[in-house]
Amino acid sequence: MYVVKFEDLNKSDIGIAGGKGANLGELTQAGIPVPPGFVVTAETYQKFMEEAGINDKVMDILDKIDINDTKALQAAAEEIKGIINSAPIPDDMILFITEAYNQLCQRVGEDDTDVAIRSSATAEDLPEASFAGQQDTFLHVSGNDEVIEYIRKCWASLFEARAIFYREENDFEHSKVYIAVVVQKMANADKAGVMFTVNPSTGEEIALIEGSWGLGESVVSGDVTPDNYQVDKKNNEIINVTISDKKVMYTNDENGTSIKVDVPEDKRKERVLSDSELIQLTEMGKRVQAHYGEPMDTEWAFENGILFLLQARPITTLGDVEEQKDESSDDVGDVLVRGLGASPGMASGKVKIVLDIDELDKIKDGDIMVTTMTTPDMVPAMRRASGIVTDEGGVTCHASIISRELGIPCVVGTGNATTTLVENDGVTLDGKKGLVFEGISETKSEEVAAVSVEAAPIITVTEVKANVSMPEAAEKAAATGADGVGLLRTEHLMLTSGIHPGKFIADGREDELIDTIADNVQIVADAFYPKPVWYRTLDAPTDEFITLEGGENEPREHNPMLGWRGIRRELDQPEILKCEFKAIKKLHEKGYTNIGIMIPLSQSPEELKKAKALCSEVGFEPHKDVEFGMMVEIPAAAIMIDEYIKVGIDFVSLGTNDLTQYTLAVDRNNEFVAKHYSEEHPAVMKLIERTIRKCAEAGVKCSICGQAGSVPHIVEKLVEFGITSVSSNTDAIADVRKTVARAEQKIILDAARKRLE
Ligand code: PEP
Ligand code: MG
Repeated sequence: MYVVKFEDLNKSDIGIAGGKGANLGELTQAGIPVPPGFVVTAETYQKFMEEAGINDKVMDILDKIDINDTKALQAAAEEIKGIINSAPIPDDMILFITEAYNQLCQRVGEDDTDVAIRSSATAEDLPEASFAGQQDTFLHVSGNDEVIEYIRKCWASLFEARAIFYREENDFEHSKVYIAVVVQKMANADKAGVMFTVNPSTGEEIALIEGSWGLGESVVSGDVTPDNYQVDKKNNEIINVTISDKKVMYTNDENGTSIKVDVPEDKRKERVLSDSELIQLTEMGKRVQAHYGEPMDTEWAFENGILFLLQARPITTLGDVEEQKDESSDDVGDVLVRGLGASPGMASGKVKIVLDIDELDKIKDGDIMVTTMTTPDMVPAMRRASGIVTDEGGVTCHASIISRELGIPCVVGTGNATTTLVENDGVTLDGKKGLVFEGISETKSEEVAAVSVEAAPIITVTEVKANVSMPEAAEKAAATGADGVGLLRTEHLMLTSGIHPGKFIADGREDELIDTIADNVQIVADAFYPKPVWYRTLDAPTDEFITLEGGENEPREHNPMLGWRGIRRELDQPEILKCEFKAIKKLHEKGYTNIGIMIPLSQSPEELKKAKALCSEVGFEPHKDVEFGMMVEIPAAAIMIDEYIKVGIDFVSLGTNDLTQYTLAVDRNNEFVAKHYSEEHPAVMKLIERTIRKCAEAGVKCSICGQAGSVPHIVEKLVEFGITSVSSNTDAIADVRKTVARAEQKIILDAARKRLE
């Protein structure tokens, strides 16, 4: 059979129709709305190759090439494609295909209707093998001649250099891989994207949806950073909406040809999917998953308000989050670069070097992002990466904090990754040891960084809490059984809004700013309720906020680390701080009384007084209505802690990342001085001990949320000093909890022994 309609195919027909074609048949038969079409079978391709007498010629060329010689590979690919593109197609084949196309035109009631022509490869002995993304797809094809021409192009695309390379690398015999071609009515989407029916990295039962304007090509090709949505499948609750700046889209020109155009200015940052569309998609995702009995990766489109599914395939990279893997790196090559292990786990993938923010789109799922230093606008691309490597930074830099929360292995401060690693080369990184190896590790390429979820009930009196920067990470953090959130960083949620908080104020949109904060904080407060969540007011460094809409007015500072950030900045911009207080007040009024307020980077008790006065001004009384505390990050604050206690504080949290840099005059983000950065320097430890003891004397709760709180042997000392809680990164919580328990038992034992002496 040369052609088969979708209606006559099902999922067992991979050998005939390839994975894509069989799936479209299965979906059509299951009643899922799929644009109609047919498949030119794998057998048709085989017949064409045989009857044109070109099979042996092609196989001969393939036999001779060295796939690691990129130029030779490229030349062979071109030669083979030339052979296929000039060979005659048998007349009866053309007849059957054009007949099927004309029937499709009749069915949709359009002459020369626009179709998408997609490759759907299949391996003879291994029909389940995945060749996703290896071969070409052509959109907006119309008319008999074009249809034939592009089907032939799909056949030829079986011999793209990347496809040849992939088959060799994965030991597929070229002669046993065939290609079916899907011909499907084009969905002229006004919005489109992808949906995973579970979270592909954690397996969590949420619909993870990405969408952008126009045809789905922009999302699938990675030309655009799409909006990202998460919907809880249990109750269709929308748990995350991240709107991104969508710069380009694919649309049809007057001839029906798809072209890449700039997204109109007013739509770039507009949300693509409404709540009801998200729910419609989620419901369809549930049906698809139920039908297949496994989590699925789908492509969807809305055309004039009507939802279509364009593709569905099982998610092949589902990680097992329960399994903590710490494998040796013995099946990879030499160490290419060394840095600091910033987020544990192993990852393999292709190197993608990002030197400019415009290059982010080249990061595809599973790539290794290599960059000078990550910035907040890189987070959507960081999510797609399987690993991150930076030239700059220490273990408390942006890349480190975010990748730990995303659970992505990360190596920072290599000094030379962007100049040493080679674009598209396969590498494996060890995020614990801080090493990047040559080559892809067989055992690690599909792993996700594991979060160790503590099952055994270890009871500690000293609370063990979690640091959270991204609301979407809250659930994972809460699943560790953490005793609350000892640090909720506000910066990330402001940055994902894309708009500078000062711009909200300047535009008279305070209410929107309040809602943005409240909505995001609520996600965290919910995940942990009724455990305490300490919301830290904005600590906005000028260099990070400059890229936001309205951020162009940020001053250019010589040293932003020592500059206009933290509470000193917020007291200069009290309207922003007041909006934050109002947001927390609003949440308290909704019942989230578990949220406390913490001010960052204070250098004088006067600042604490002023911040409290502003909180009272919005009708929210510190200590009475809300717990009010502060971070100790500047040596001045540690030295003057008694003065702060006199002004009145409910709690203190040691921000050792900053406390260390300010005590030792070592920039925490500068890899050249990283070796001088140590929280265990006696001067830093003295300030820590002093703060803990003074707080204990005064009955003020004292915690830690700097990176030192995730280092077990430091935590042991803090427990001895009398710290009341420790807030760690999610990945460190289980270890820290054990350390705390051991330290507490040691104190009890020592005391008992002393009594016996
Ligand atoms: C710190 O300084 O230790 C801290 C936790 O704050 P951040 O890392 O956000 O500066
Ligand atoms: Mg800090």
